[in-house]
Amino acid sequence: MSNFEELMDSLTRTLRGEEARKAVERPLPTPFSFKWHPVIGCRMNVGAVCANCRARKESWEEFQKSTAGYWVAKPTEVTFHDSQLMEPIRYRKPMDIEVAPLSDLFQPDVSDDMRHKILSVMKNAPQHRFFIQTKNPAFMKHYFKTRTKLEWPLPNVWVGTSVEDQASYNARVPHLLGVPAQHYFLVFEPLLGPIAPEMIQLDTFDRLWPFRQFVQAYEYMDEQGQRHWSSLDAEPLMRTPRIEWILIGGNRGENARPPHPSWVRKILRQATDEGIPVWYSGFGEYAQISNPDLQNDETLIFVSPRGEYRGRGAGSATNLLSATVDGETSEIMTRKTVPARRLLLDGKHYLERAPLPALITPEMDSVQALAARLKSRV
Ligand code: SF4
Repeated sequence: MSNFEELMDSLTRTLRGEEARKAVERPLPTPFSFKWHPVIGCRMNVGAVCANCRARKESWEEFQKSTAGYWVAKPTEVTFHDSQLMEPIRYRKPMDIEVAPLSDLFQPDVSDDMRHKILSVMKNAPQHRFFIQTKNPAFMKHYFKTRTKLEWPLPNVWVGTSVEDQASYNARVPHLLGVPAQHYFLVFEPLLGPIAPEMIQLDTFDRLWPFRQFVQAYEYMDEQGQRHWSSLDAEPLMRTPRIEWILIGGNRGENARPPHPSWVRKILRQATDEGIPVWYSGFGEYAQISNPDLQNDETLIFVSPRGEYRGRGAGSATNLLSATVDGETSEIMTRKTVPARRLLLDGKHYLERAPLPALITPEMDSVQALAARLKSRV
């Protein structure tokens, strides 16, 4: 057991009442320092992931309570909030800002005019970094290539897409890498199935290695039907943009299903090999457990590497199930845990923020200007 786990165990064993409540409610670390809501609501439907969308359910209710000023009737109504538009400009201290986390800027209900206003604020707040995430990177690419009226790309804007399984990974990542931008990030949340992140076979027959930043060109098929690509060491292969940051996490809510740790490990290993920092925001509602209480814990869930769920937490009548089925051993997880434990993968945290903060301020906009300022202080 790691030091952190031991500490959490002793905390939960020794703290009682108010003290225990405070320890459990202490805010968890978050990858962004500010959530900006110029647009709220989403009418997109890109599959099962939208049916259990946090923006439409738990967070939505929580958000309504805390923001009585700009309540909207339904989570599927898309509304633009003028009162929020200028928020980032008010803060001089540099922040990492998550843009419209309860919406999607590239859904059809958001007009080009709205997008233009939001992007103009980003342009005029160069002290911050803005992170725009979409499930519609095909339209994001189209918008930035042909429709934006702004000088683009902006150095302080990161573009990203979120994927939940192999199909969405294969479909969205090639579009993301086609968006003209200076910085790219990738979000595996909620992770709903195993993903082989190494290579994507494109419709053109070319092969894309998203973490290694290149496309290998398809050349021909021989008489035996064997495909051939340009050799891996032949330079130059076609370069793709670099993914600079990866976020991984499970889904939340009543029907949440945690990812199997092997799915997370696989992405983490690939990212580490390529030197890409990772923020792991945990198993959603669950945590790994080494000594499950099979008799009494009604929240236990057995997750197989293939994504099958058993145990009382998944609706089985009993927890007294074999952890190994068809040669595959399930991970056993529980909801009965302190929130900080949910962030641990195999007893460790992976909380790396987006790298190389862009220390660009209105007065400090070039290397020469920065050098001159530093020199003047000597
Ligand atoms: S915010 Fe994302 S997950 Fe939620 S409904 Fe829209 S596209 Fe789907």
